[in-house]
Amino acid sequence: MHATQITIIGGGFCGIMTAIHLMQNHDIALDIHLINKDNPLARGVAYNPHTASLLLNVPNGKISALENEPSHFLNWLINDQPQLAGIANLECMFATRQQYGRYLTCLWNEALKNRPGTVTITTYEDEAYDLQKEDGRFHLFLRHHPMITADVVVLATGNEVPRLPGGVPAAFGNSKRYAGNPWKKDCLENLDPKADLLIIGNGLTMVDTVIGLVEKDFKGKIYTISPNGYQLKPSAETKPIYGDADPKELMKNSPSLLTIVKYINRHRKAAKLKDQSFFKVLDDLRPYNQQIWRSFTTGEKKSFIKHFANMWNTTRHRLPVPMFDLMETLRANGKLLNIKGKIKAITETNNKLLVTLNCGGEIKTISVQRSINCTGPAGDLKFSQNELLQNLAVNGLVCADALGMGINADPENGMVIGAGGDHIPNLFVTGSNLKGILMETTAVPELRLQARKLATHLIENCRMELHPQQM
Ligand SMILES: Cc1cc2nc3c(=O)[nH]c(=O)nc-3n(C[C@H](O)[C@H](O)[C@H](O)COP(=O)(O)OP(=O)(O)OC[C@H]3O[C@@H](n4cnc5c(N)ncnc54)[C@H](O)[C@@H]3O)c2cc1C
Repeated sequence: MHATQITIIGGGFCGIMTAIHLMQNHDIALDIHLINKDNPLARGVAYNPHTASLLLNVPNGKISALENEPSHFLNWLINDQPQLAGIANLECMFATRQQYGRYLTCLWNEALKNRPGTVTITTYEDEAYDLQKEDGRFHLFLRHHPMITADVVVLATGNEVPRLPGGVPAAFGNSKRYAGNPWKKDCLENLDPKADLLIIGNGLTMVDTVIGLVEKDFKGKIYTISPNGYQLKPSAETKPIYGDADPKELMKNSPSLLTIVKYINRHRKAAKLKDQSFFKVLDDLRPYNQQIWRSFTTGEKKSFIKHFANMWNTTRHRLPVPMFDLMETLRANGKLLNIKGKIKAITETNNKLLVTLNCGGEIKTISVQRSINCTGPAGDLKFSQNELLQNLAVNGLVCADALGMGINADPENGMVIGAGGDHIPNLFVTGSNLKGILMETTAVPELRLQARKLATHLIENCRMELHPQQM
């Protein structure tokens, strides 16, 4: 019997979890090809951090890779480090991202060991740089291996490297004093430990970078700049938790953006009056976020991004308390200076960068040894540095979603919608490239479900093709 050829491009969380669920099918013959570059298989960018102490931003009890086994990660952790067994609240604590990377590697190895005889899996440490469709099948071109022909292709390429921020001249992108990929180890290497440094961006990647610098005993000042100056919040506050919001009630009638904003504001004010922590109001909305986003009009989505996205991102994606406390201490000691403003110009001299900043009309110049771009993943396909996605966009097999936040696809199953507006059968996209379509598609709690749903969809399609009369 002809085995269905499934090629997955990207071996991070989304890629391996899709493959793991595919491997759990025992009746359909599959040949899975998994292609991954740059990062160790299974770990991806997130769980192969430049600094060992970086923590997950989802607590241990909520980051199982398998949504139907909520304690799977917790049990693995205790099995791995039995001394943790007696710790109360272990499920509310945050493991390191390195530990999580080891967990995913174990899960992957286990799945390979238990793989049914009907499924083969071949992994390639290589870059896929082009994909072409011919007679209903796909030809995938790899840098160092022969072409692969596939019936089904899954794009699980993960987050894009940040784009060059506004105000920064394009030529500066090639400067050795500019670190464009904040997730690579070398952005923290070969620094003068006493000369100041500029981080562009004020979010989670900024925090990772600062912690990396602290671990390297960096003594200079760390400037950060962002247009809004928002500070990230801690995962939990010491005040009692406000619990009067009822998201089920809200979701009874498909709520508009205005209804959601009123709901959030009403409960924020009520929580303030009671001196209680408001975070649970947003946390409880999380299971509904994709549904809410999908029901918004394009106008509402644009309005949300323009007016509320920064507030949302800083409150929804919070910092584990130890990391938050460290940032506060560094600020109090004058080592970390968060500037609200924009870069106006950058001049490079022999041994430093002179960066001119516009801080609400006030012009300042700072002198730093390096600038690290921590503005977050670039979503817009126009700025993709991934040659595969660039080529796919050129040949029309993928195109940007209506908001320019990722790839256009069917929200139900991630099937790509090409430049002509038609679905591209058997070409799928997962993970953060679906941001414009689903919004909440960045972290493990959503991605694990997406991987299972996609694998189930692919298996059902195979069954339908083999036994259409039974379906
Ligand atoms: C620094 C960081 C920290 C994070 N921390 C958390 C956290 O604590 N908790 C949480 O829930 N989420 C976290 N996230 C979110 C994270 O994005 C997801 O949890 C998850 O790891 C995403 O997996 P992915 O497979 O989509 O992408 P990735 O893990 O990035 O994997 C994509 C892989 O595809 C490879 N690839 C790309 N293009 C090609 C190509 N053309 N050919 C071959 N290979 C290719 C990449 O090199 C990479 O190895 C974090 C993200 C980042 C960036």
